[in-house]
Amino acid sequence: MSKIESIFKKAKREKFAIGQFNFSDFTQLKAIARASKELDIPALCGTSQGEASFFGKTNAVALIKKFREKEKIKLYLNFDHGKSYKELKEAVDNGYDMVHFDGSDLDFDKNIRETKKIVRYAHKKGVLVEGEVSKIGGKSALFNKKAEKFTLTSLEKIVRFIEETEVDCIALDVGNIHGVFTEMPKMELERISNLLREVSCFVVLHGGSGIQKKEIREAIDRGVVKININTEIRVEWIGAIRDFLDKNPDEIVPYKIMPEAEFAVYKKIREKMKLFINK
Ligand SMILES: [Zn+2]
Repeated sequence: MSKIESIFKKAKREKFAIGQFNFSDFTQLKAIARASKELDIPALCGTSQGEASFFGKTNAVALIKKFREKEKIKLYLNFDHGKSYKELKEAVDNGYDMVHFDGSDLDFDKNIRETKKIVRYAHKKGVLVEGEVSKIGGKSALFNKKAEKFTLTSLEKIVRFIEETEVDCIALDVGNIHGVFTEMPKMELERISNLLREVSCFVVLHGGSGIQKKEIREAIDRGVVKININTEIRVEWIGAIRDFLDKNPDEIVPYKIMPEAEFAVYKKIREKMKLFINK
């Protein structure tokens, strides 16, 4: 069993969740590492397609490995919302600990076929796979409007998807959405319990940014083991840089500007980790 799988098992048993924090620059990754080290809590670091192509898959793998092996910080790497077999095969070959195939834009049968293909390849190398059958809308940004309500996929369909593909984790739609809105949709968290009565899969909550603390706790109590955070990290990162440059418009030295961003991201991640772990 891979390390990350045993962490998820423990999380499910003991009712806590692991945060997935996305990054696309080194200050964000350092912030995740610092929070993880200080609290002694494992974390998944996520790269979406855009983030991975900017940062470089091999750079991401090498740095995570460095933190884990040299500094004993429990960081793991997930490829977030991969859309093709080719991209995810490359992530597996490069040493990602986990990959998420998002086939929610494909028709149901094609999604099953493609996901199966990835599961077969990844499992041979001990890599976990997260699947997605119901589209979780929005994107990791700030919106000055109410979130629109999406139609949720039937649980029967999701159960069939999990059983046929043998994915390890499922990105479940419970009314969640990527991004932060002025008003978030109402969550249907009982879907988590209902699904887990049918299958033994690890449930992942996407669009964790902007979800109320109370709902996060309920989702964890119902069995969610991974919660993805991206927007709130981006907001902290850019906010700190903007503030610093407003106050110091002539500053040009990266190592004087970027610690502000790193510290802001670290504080946010620390807050989320404590919430997810229930400390
Ligand atoms: Zn997502």
